Amino acid sequence: MQSDTIFDRILRKELPARIVHEDEEVLAFHDAHPQAPVHVLVIPKKKVASFDRLGELTGEEAGRFFQAVAAVARRLGLAESGYRVVINCGRDGNQTVDYLHAHILGRRPLRWPPG
Ligand code: AMP
Repeated sequence: MQSDTIFDRILRKELPARIVHEDEEVLAFHDAHPQAPVHVLVIPKKKVASFDRLGELTGEEAGRFFQAVAAVARRLGLAESGYRVVINCGRDGNQTVDYLHAHILGRRPLRWPPG
């Protein structure tokens, strides 16, 4: 388990990121290795290591996190064409950064099932 992750460092502004939205509760920034024309990550400022640990947020905090993801996607202009929200969890989920984050992927048709 990583304790101080890349995303902790981005949040502290120790590492550069292309930030698209920031408020008291979330930070959203472009993924460094985009898998779609739009690929943005959203993290809660209150750190949770993975989706499995979502219970460490209150229901209201978790709800506001998901509302923020939807608001960022809308702000990115994806609401009409659609998009995908992905949260990788754990080894089989291919989670590589131990800090809860939602991927917003859009502006191309996305296939199903995912790889
Ligand atoms: P996951 O595999 O779900 O844990 O996703 C981690 C994501 O973080 C990957 O899509 C990476 O491309 C992305 N990533 C890693 N380092 C950075 C960074 N410094 N800035 C932005 N995105 C990053």
